[in-house]
Amino acid sequence: IETPYPENEPILDYAPGTEARRKLKEALKEMAGKRVEIPLVIGGERITTGDMGQVVMPHDHNHVLAEYHKASEREARLAIEAALEARKTWQSMRWEERCAIFLKAAELLARKYRYLINAGSMLSTSKNAFQAEIDAACELIDFLRFNVHFAERIYREQPRSAPGIWNYLQHRPLEGFVLAVTPFNFTAIAGNLPSAPAIMGNTVVWKPASSCVYTPHLFMQILEEAGLPAGVINFLPGPGRLVGDVCLKDPNLAGVHFTGSTAVFQQMWRTIGEHIATYKSYPRIVGETGGKDFVVVHQDADVDQVVTALVRGAFEYQGQKCSAVSRAYIPQSLWKHIRSGLERELTSLPVGPPQDFRNFVNAVIDRQAFTSITGFIDQARQDSTSEIIIGGGSNDRTGYFIEPTVIVTKDPQSRTMVEEIFGPVLTIYVYEDDAYLETLEICDKTSRYALTGAVFSRSRAAISLALAKLEQAAGNFYINDKPTGAVVGQQPFGGGRASGTNDKAGFYTNLLRWVSPRTVKETF
Ligand code: GLU
Repeated sequence: IETPYPENEPILDYAPGTEARRKLKEALKEMAGKRVEIPLVIGGERITTGDMGQVVMPHDHNHVLAEYHKASEREARLAIEAALEARKTWQSMRWEERCAIFLKAAELLARKYRYLINAGSMLSTSKNAFQAEIDAACELIDFLRFNVHFAERIYREQPRSAPGIWNYLQHRPLEGFVLAVTPFNFTAIAGNLPSAPAIMGNTVVWKPASSCVYTPHLFMQILEEAGLPAGVINFLPGPGRLVGDVCLKDPNLAGVHFTGSTAVFQQMWRTIGEHIATYKSYPRIVGETGGKDFVVVHQDADVDQVVTALVRGAFEYQGQKCSAVSRAYIPQSLWKHIRSGLERELTSLPVGPPQDFRNFVNAVIDRQAFTSITGFIDQARQDSTSEIIIGGGSNDRTGYFIEPTVIVTKDPQSRTMVEEIFGPVLTIYVYEDDAYLETLEICDKTSRYALTGAVFSRSRAAISLALAKLEQAAGNFYINDKPTGAVVGQQPFGGGRASGTNDKAGFYTNLLRWVSPRTVKETF
């Protein structure tokens, strides 16, 4: 048996007049017109607790799309029990059969539920149609298909044998359950974090972000339709403390698959550290956390290319990607051109709800994000070394809208130049053309995070210098391109320093974390 070698799922075009646009509009209308109830799923059972949370549209926060039942400690314990029970049969199922379930889920997404999941992502997380399509459809489908491909590669990877000796590896799943804690900003990541360990034979407790329950709920149903046995993935929306108070303290915790904030990840790691002697095995900890992603422009760069990269890299999905550009270093000689390019592009970018397909910029995820991002903008307004040159406005009357904002600073260590904002705010530091080397050094020195970054130049020498000086400053390094939009199987994704464990989502190295191989030597 060989699993199909995956192609990346083609991106559907939602241009005016297309059938795709018509169908997506229908799905949006239908979804907005009803209010659904989302249960927990534990051991294949739908569980209701009556303790309700709401899914509202970030761009119209009075509109409730769904209500979901929140787990308490009791359901968290039940979910762990269900995972441990399901593990007995799931781990001994042939890997080809496990993989078939995820391949089928990919087909269901591609052919049957594409418009539904995209509509869910647009309405519940305020993504425009393109951002939804590349995430909730294409990237999630890619994760599933490539994980299957990489799983096969791992299962076939075997050591040498010798005359009279047969050596082989059994790629056992981890002993216990894996906890997946997923973010709001990518449905693809939310789907991948529980799926990747499950493909390798593990069973999972899945705690989605409270600000992104709708599309995970849809994906959970798709997995069930694809044949996922009861208890393999247990869906546990609810307060974050369930994780710290119950899941991380359970002696059967075998792994954590996390994407979210650096602070939460560090707290989880501390809790695990405190309980380290109580686990059956050392839990595998895999996390992708914050970013403060950079663009360094050299004086011989193509200015138009830089402007496009800054506009798309910093402001697509309102800058709420861990990979989003949030600081840029621009040489003095190019600044006038780049500044007028940014003014031209950004002041004409339509801002509004995603149901109107013309809008490039939609709302930020919730009130907490709105308050935090506008707080950074207000602080920059007070700061004598910084000046807001584009945008700066915000309005939360109907939705959490913040204008694409560009700040110029004279201080490369100013707050918006070094702290993660996770919103549509780009800070620029203009340097003297002959200070390229020093600028690279400043960029590295201020990279507490090290997720993504990019350099723009036409000369090899400048590119080589950036690669060398910024060696540890980004796990994904882009040359003459924006640092967002990593494609599964093409640009394995992840970073170091405070940005995570860099196990590379969308690559076989991630899946290796979910097995504990047994080496068998048999002598004849
Ligand atoms: N993989 C995404 C990208 O390359 C970012 C993921 C994230 O925000 O966590 O843009």
